[in-house]
Amino acid sequence: MSLHPRATIHLDNIVANWRTIGALTPASETGAVVKANAYGHGVAQVAGALHNAGCRTFFVAYVEEGAELREAVGPDAKIMVFNGAQEEDRTLVRDAQLVPVLNSLPAIDEWVSYNRTIPFAVHIDTGMNRLGVRPDDVARMLDLTRGTALTHVMSHLVDSDDPKCPLNTRQCYTFGDLIRPLTSIQSSLANTGGCFLGQMYGFDVTRPGIGLYGGGPRPPEGVDILPGMTLEAPILTVQKARPDETVGYGATCELKQDTLLATVALGYGDGFPRSAGNQGVATLGGIRCPIMGRVSMDLITIDVSAASDLAKPGGFAQFIGPDAPLEEQAKCAGTVGYELVTGLGHRVRRLYD
Ligand SMILES: *Cc1c(COP(=O)(O)O)cnc(C)c1O
Repeated sequence: MSLHPRATIHLDNIVANWRTIGALTPASETGAVVKANAYGHGVAQVAGALHNAGCRTFFVAYVEEGAELREAVGPDAKIMVFNGAQEEDRTLVRDAQLVPVLNSLPAIDEWVSYNRTIPFAVHIDTGMNRLGVRPDDVARMLDLTRGTALTHVMSHLVDSDDPKCPLNTRQCYTFGDLIRPLTSIQSSLANTGGCFLGQMYGFDVTRPGIGLYGGGPRPPEGVDILPGMTLEAPILTVQKARPDETVGYGATCELKQDTLLATVALGYGDGFPRSAGNQGVATLGGIRCPIMGRVSMDLITIDVSAASDLAKPGGFAQFIGPDAPLEEQAKCAGTVGYELVTGLGHRVRRLYD
């Protein structure tokens, strides 16, 4: 069998992160966002582990994701679908017992004329200008949903990554004011960043995603978030190169000295960003080995001069994990942890420990 890149998924760490994040808002239920195949970590395995740990509210983006999730977690979990449900999704909503999140007055109107007994949620837009009923339309929304099975209202924070951003408190108060009269309806505001902002952001249910997988904004002092995956690439070859030689396509990396290079099986064809060329790092035995030259479709070359003892064909270099933190690697590639983990393709073998 040929050597493939592999992502070892640390289910115990993901469960530990869920508990750690949950402990920050003790008065709230802690949900889990598992859209996009649990941010690339494998929805069945991740949701199964979280369900075993006691998680009972999950969030996905699509009804199809919800149906797959239902298979994994069984009948006793709540599954909310952020992107709502189109007419053609109704069978799946019923069969898999999904809770669609409705994102506009017309969508709500359509839903309540179809059915008034299936539970649904409503998104209120407090600042994203993306999805949701505008605050001015909340009264109209309440008229439309009177006598229906509206169970949850939610909103989403614009800039929860930045604890200093004044929009956070503004959105929190706006949302708090809007939901105050709705005593029998559950409320939800906080993604991972929101959970890090303080208990005031917890409301009834929290919606952490990226933090479960080891990424996202820096957690508050004393809060330890563990890596959700370790991404490694197998070394195919090790070669010595001399000063004035170049590495890779376009000759973008000129060597200044004798350099020991290793070429590994990982590339943008696996979803590893091409923008990490000459910017990102791998590690071997914890030693940093910079990416040299461009990222190719199937290959990356790294400088293993500092880790020459470990640089052997068949060995594995780490690109995300305890030695190569997700958000640091993402930053090198000019992106965020979210994009890095959700982008990893099928050629990356997922293993579960
Ligand atoms: C994806 C998503 C989340 C999770 O956000 P993280 O930043 O990954 O914690 C929460 N709420 C909504 C509406 C989302 O789309």
